[in-house]
Amino acid sequence: MRAIWAAALLFAFTGAASAQVSDATRASNAAFAQTLPWADREDEDFAARGFAAAYDQQQIRTADGSRVVWDFSAYNFLQGPAPETVNPSLWRHAQLLARAGLFRVTDRVYQIRGFDVSNMTIIVGDTGLIVVDPLSSAETAAAGLALARRTLGDKPVVAVIYTHSHLDHFGGVRGVVPNPAGVEIIAPDHFMEHAVTENVIAGNAMSRRAQYQFGTGLPPGPEGQMTSGIGIAVSSGTFTLIPPTRSITHTGETLTIDGVRIEFQLTPDTEAPAEMNFLFPDFGVLLIAENATASMHNILTPRGALVRDAKAWADYLTEVLRLYGDRTQVMVNSHAWPRFGGDRVRDFIASHRDAYKYLHDQTVRLMNAGYTDREIAEQVRLPASLSARWFNHGYYGTMMHNSRAVYQRYMGWYDANPANLNPLPPAEEGVRFVRAMGGEDRVLAEGQRAFDEGDYRWAARVLNNLVFANPNNTAARQLLARTHRQMAYQSESAIWRNMYLSAARELDQGPPQRSLPTQSADLVGATPTSYILDLLSVRLNPERLGDRQYAFNLVFPERNERFAVTIRNGVLVYERDQTVDGPTITSPRAVFLQAMATQSMARAVLSGQIRIQGGRRSLEGLGEVFDNPDPNFPIVTP
Ligand SMILES: [Zn+2]
Repeated sequence: MRAIWAAALLFAFTGAASAQVSDATRASNAAFAQTLPWADREDEDFAARGFAAAYDQQQIRTADGSRVVWDFSAYNFLQGPAPETVNPSLWRHAQLLARAGLFRVTDRVYQIRGFDVSNMTIIVGDTGLIVVDPLSSAETAAAGLALARRTLGDKPVVAVIYTHSHLDHFGGVRGVVPNPAGVEIIAPDHFMEHAVTENVIAGNAMSRRAQYQFGTGLPPGPEGQMTSGIGIAVSSGTFTLIPPTRSITHTGETLTIDGVRIEFQLTPDTEAPAEMNFLFPDFGVLLIAENATASMHNILTPRGALVRDAKAWADYLTEVLRLYGDRTQVMVNSHAWPRFGGDRVRDFIASHRDAYKYLHDQTVRLMNAGYTDREIAEQVRLPASLSARWFNHGYYGTMMHNSRAVYQRYMGWYDANPANLNPLPPAEEGVRFVRAMGGEDRVLAEGQRAFDEGDYRWAARVLNNLVFANPNNTAARQLLARTHRQMAYQSESAIWRNMYLSAARELDQGPPQRSLPTQSADLVGATPTSYILDLLSVRLNPERLGDRQYAFNLVFPERNERFAVTIRNGVLVYERDQTVDGPTITSPRAVFLQAMATQSMARAVLSGQIRIQGGRRSLEGLGEVFDNPDPNFPIVTP
């Protein structure tokens, strides 16, 4: 796999990436613009309202100044009408998302927006500040709080609320709470387990795929990354986590924090497995977390995740209307801009709810009529009454991939047609496809014909077969890259655009050479040991293990944990609080993890950091049986 790559790379740089916009793309974007509700300027009003102050520097850096984690000037290109390389609806959306600064929502409620992919909401209590969702990185959160304090005064942070278990809503917490003593940290029930575990077991595949979804390798620009659809981009600073001191366990629970009354609605298994909305009844402000933003959200996020429940999502929006609708004057959320006016908020939530309900119900109706996922994706479109609203558009999730997610939730990947039950893997099918078409030149000619006609979806299928049959075919790679770029330029969804452009870039240049992102000490420290042993289990390589067997005890004294571990039949099995007949490995957990991650177990044993008692020789070769997966594995080539 690697060798083929290196050969292909030699040729790749001979064909420079071109930003040429085809007539078909030009026509598509022009036609798309005709369908958009330009007269509706409500979002422009809402996104600008209450602007209080901008940050006084262009960049936010790490504490030691060595690295930029956020650059306010990166999106300065978002001026004027849409260029030909950007879908006009996405261009408008990006312009609105890029507004950065401190915004006054009401007398007591402020927001930091445009400092990260998410928003930080700040409530002015009787004596201090309550921070909701402290962004992704400690650096951006600290900068946002510093800006807010210039307006609000140098008040202490008395409480933090996490709306849900995704990193962009808690990762910056140590930036606003350097010293957690006495600070109340409030989160929905089961927050910790989901915050630390959602990305563990499939983490490598998810982060590689997330590079595509968020376009992390793409420079922002008219030919590059164009936001992530729900916010600009995820900042790249220090990810932190302080565990909650209080869990919200049921809808209807109320709290008074620093004189501010809060009523909670739990919304588990919507946008996140642990999530909640809440009302500040004294201010008439509803904080709706990430359950309703300025875009259709993902029912199945393309980076990979467990599929979400569109029906439950709609049902909780119905409930929030009943619980808080008539007491709400302003709605804020954790991405994008607020909505002002009780009638407008209620109208927004009802319309947005209907979009998810329509997506779910019509997908299931067609499924029961015998249509399969690709056929459903081709025909489920929101009715005009819903698609005429900007906030129901697919800047993040789309009707296309969300309808397939609904299908997957009920039916799985199989469409019931046995011709699709056991297809050949891509490279093998590619070889046969090329042979059936009469050779590589014929396939390339068909790809070119489809490209010239603007039939990009077919061109991509044809050329993908050729690239998987022969990744050294440079002409095929370049034409496929050009095809992906045209589809990117037409995409209303920011993440579809990011995925197409990432594919094009890697077809031209190969996968990135980035090193692994630094681990968050807080997140690793908070991960239960059982999840770490699960991760070890899925890294076991049966070929390297061969017919060897291991049995040992693992003891982490500082956590009072012990596990019996056996490895045989290509499987690692562990049991808590059990003992097996074999040596005992005793170590601080952090040292053990570090040694496993860096394959330096032998060194750690020699240095005495890890102690082994009894039958050390029976552990020989143990360090070699686990994979260290490639963080930049190939996606668009075999
Ligand atoms: Zn988020």
